[in-house]
Amino acid sequence: VITFTGSPLDRGASRRDDASWIEQQRADPHACFVAVHEGRLRVRDGRLDVAAESQGEAIFLGVHQQTPWFAVETGGGDAYEELRGLALILPPEEASIAAAAKSLFEWHSRHRYCSQCGQPSDVAASGWKRVCPACRAEHFPRVDPVVIMLPLFGDRCLLARQAAWPARRMAPLAGFLEPGESIEEACARETNEEAGLVATRVTYHASQPWPFPSTLMIGLFVEVASDAAVPDGVELEEVRWLTRDEASAVLAGSHPEVLAPNRYAIAHELLTAWVERRNR
Ligand SMILES: [Zn+2]
Repeated sequence: VITFTGSPLDRGASRRDDASWIEQQRADPHACFVAVHEGRLRVRDGRLDVAAESQGEAIFLGVHQQTPWFAVETGGGDAYEELRGLALILPPEEASIAAAAKSLFEWHSRHRYCSQCGQPSDVAASGWKRVCPACRAEHFPRVDPVVIMLPLFGDRCLLARQAAWPARRMAPLAGFLEPGESIEEACARETNEEAGLVATRVTYHASQPWPFPSTLMIGLFVEVASDAAVPDGVELEEVRWLTRDEASAVLAGSHPEVLAPNRYAIAHELLTAWVERRNR
């Protein structure tokens, strides 16, 4: 299971505009409230603390086994923790729900004004839209696509490291899609810009919502024409080809010079899939 996926909620998108139905759900004594404060989540004993929350604007997240779920921005407190630290502690389904709640609130906090006319906009559709009262423009929560790809040549894969990362940490290549690009084109461009390699074949593997604040990581394998990799010296300070045995040691934490990507990131899954020969 890829971290931040697998939410059990039925999002009930068709009910979001039904204010009286939403109000009824919020008044349900069994309703769950994911409490968020400045991107941090309220937790108790390694689980989301979803105790009733009467204050704050609520976003309707969905329904699971007749239980409605909401996200509420609260005043905060000691019990709030960063999602990065919780990613592998929360049950996977709760991590996924928390990711959606965090991304939505961060979008609202950064999009208070209409991008078309500059007036303050209003929350609509139970938190899934903002509407401008002045020009009637509708604004929807954004998700920014990112390609993340593991270059392959013969029996080796390429990992790279950014100067800003913790010592020895390495990961696949990655970059934002640009307007007018397909996923394959963005993958080929980034692979060339960052490591000087020419893509010959791009294969989709899996994707991951990444709530920091709201990107979609599109996990790919990219076969390249040669092993003449050169780090761009801007984003990347080092690139390194690894055999399957070496990559396996990286994942096991026993490689002396390379630290694996974070276990909850799709970067880790890409490397694992290749080591386990699942990259087809
Ligand atoms: Zn407007």
